[in-house]
Amino acid sequence: VVNKPDRTTTAVCGYCSTGCGLNVHLKDGPDGEPGGGGAIGLTPTTDYPVNLGMACPKGWEALAVLDAPDRATTPLLKDASGKLRPVDWNVALDAFCDRMKAVQRKHGPESVAFLSTGQIPTEEMALLGSLTKFGMGVVHGDGNTRQCMATAVVAYKQSFGFDAPPYTYQDFEESDCLIFVGANLCLAHPIMWERVMRNKRRPEILVLDPRATETAMNATLHLPAKPKSDQSFFYGLANYFVQNGWVDREFVSQHTAGFEEYAKFVEAFPFERVSRDTGLPVETLVDAALRIRSRERISCWWTMGVNQSHQGVRTAQAIINFQLLTGNLGKPGTGANSITGQCNAMGSRLFSNTTGLLGGRDFKKPEHRAEVAELLEVPEHSIQTEDGLAYPEIIEGVLKGKIRGLWVIATNPAHSWINRNQLDDVLSRLDFLVVQDMYHSTETAQVADLVLPAAGWGEKEGTFINSERRIGLLKKVRRAPGQALADFSIFQAIADRWGCGALLQQWTDPEAAFQILKRLSAGTPCDFSGVRDYRHLDEAGGVQWPFPAEGGDEAAERRLFADGQFYHRDGKAKFLFEEPRPLPEPAGGKYPFTLLTGRGSASQWHTQTRTAKSAVLRKLYPEAVYVEVNPRDARRLKVAPEQAVRVESQRGSIRAKAFVTNGVPEGCLFLPMHYPETNQLTDGQFDPYSRQPAYKACAVRLLAD
Ligand code: SF4
Repeated sequence: VVNKPDRTTTAVCGYCSTGCGLNVHLKDGPDGEPGGGGAIGLTPTTDYPVNLGMACPKGWEALAVLDAPDRATTPLLKDASGKLRPVDWNVALDAFCDRMKAVQRKHGPESVAFLSTGQIPTEEMALLGSLTKFGMGVVHGDGNTRQCMATAVVAYKQSFGFDAPPYTYQDFEESDCLIFVGANLCLAHPIMWERVMRNKRRPEILVLDPRATETAMNATLHLPAKPKSDQSFFYGLANYFVQNGWVDREFVSQHTAGFEEYAKFVEAFPFERVSRDTGLPVETLVDAALRIRSRERISCWWTMGVNQSHQGVRTAQAIINFQLLTGNLGKPGTGANSITGQCNAMGSRLFSNTTGLLGGRDFKKPEHRAEVAELLEVPEHSIQTEDGLAYPEIIEGVLKGKIRGLWVIATNPAHSWINRNQLDDVLSRLDFLVVQDMYHSTETAQVADLVLPAAGWGEKEGTFINSERRIGLLKKVRRAPGQALADFSIFQAIADRWGCGALLQQWTDPEAAFQILKRLSAGTPCDFSGVRDYRHLDEAGGVQWPFPAEGGDEAAERRLFADGQFYHRDGKAKFLFEEPRPLPEPAGGKYPFTLLTGRGSASQWHTQTRTAKSAVLRKLYPEAVYVEVNPRDARRLKVAPEQAVRVESQRGSIRAKAFVTNGVPEGCLFLPMHYPETNQLTDGQFDPYSRQPAYKACAVRLLAD
């Protein structure tokens, strides 16, 4: 039998932050040759502590997307006629260095920036961050995690003193009451939802979401609150608990600061007001409060419905505050739990060296800069003393002509950035745009001056950190096609050609980089210096941080704050709050609908850069753009199911098919984010603290086409 595997190894999945373990079945023979060599099949790992033998369609199809015909197999350089032409690596590296240096010479070191990703291993992110910031003199770089997790990062840092999601997946199974806020686990994190389904405690499941999502349909109580009213909901809930004396006074007094001010503040949120803000009847709010109060272990879980908001940080903190005042942190089945998006968003948050210094450190703190300088053997003066610009300011910088050279790695802003029509203009203003990606066909690569072909998942090694802080191992099980190289190798080659290779001589390969990361983590809250090496990770089934050198039981699932100690100097968590702000672009007048956006299917991922390459995944998702419309709105506008319609905002107009469904509330429309058209409509609004884009709500109208 030709396809009978000779051996099997394991690797963590490279899509979402669940971090499932996959068995990769290998055929011996010349690596990469058709019919023999490398990975020939995948199955979920049955004893990996995350997924326990389950995987979603994306994981099952992880190999198929590596064989796509539009893989970037050679560097491509734009010629005088504006066409991308194949060149060899020598020419590509010369072009990269000569033109980026020319931009820096002409416009200053701050005129070159980079945009990276939560999709590459931590070792690669850290090398990129070190190369650019310590070697190339680049000041500004950010990741696409700005689009998904920045809000949670800021909320945790301000509330807990460190970016620290406190939970372990076991909490899905050990909670008595799970409250999901703007989170559709069934589609976005299906294996986490399977963990909820394994909960034997007959839990209450409350879902706060304007849409009747698949998760809401499985709730014991769906709370279809108006878009962006979740902050008010949690303030009202806090007030109701305070008024009824349902506060964990001991936890609050020993482990938190600012409760009295918070209790006073939420007095302004009686359920009568919250009912007006959320559109939920007072009796429904009371019902929700009583259900929560009746259970012992309460856990709150949020994703993009909270993070991608004009007031995401304070909303996340309204959730955190509720868990603090009820003492639901640090114990089984509890937590204020942000679920990450990408496979390595957590690695990016802590080690990308973009807007924060390596290891969750701060560029502005001299003692942090001194530690990094010593550990990496780089001159302290090469470490910037101020934060660099965040993603929106980098885009703004290009518009204003301050940033003239941009290096985009494993992300596709021309599709994914909010108000993308503006971004087309932004990218065209650059003197030099480099895109480093697995595929030459992404919307961003198509307008690049230089495309660097990168290896993908399964074609290189490294580690990812998942939502529950578990460091998992990625292995090379295939050879990358053509001249495509691991991002790690590309960064090394650029370092040498740039002339700063000596500065990065410790970074010889991914496993050496992992040892550097261990040293950078030592003594910080995300300490994993007790992990020996890749083999240790492989044998342990991943290891959750913290795992300091003095060790512990790597097999034990660990949640944070079991000792009630937070990371602020006084050891206490803070209550942080402010008056909710109105929607930046409320529906009304010419644009009477609120447009909601989000995940459309468990089979699709982000801009479909990879998932569109799988025939199986394509079959699980409609290729034509569709927009969800409530039946009452459809009747009123005389829009029939499947009818061609136009959706228009102040920024653009797109064609779609009407999907008439009760899943979306009256007055709202829903568009999946996977279509390039969706962000032609969205509005460039941002959370003031996290600078995360508010993808979820803007004003539109619906017209029959
Ligand atoms: Fe991969 Fe996430 Fe699917 Fe698991 S749930 S198989 S990590 S995409």
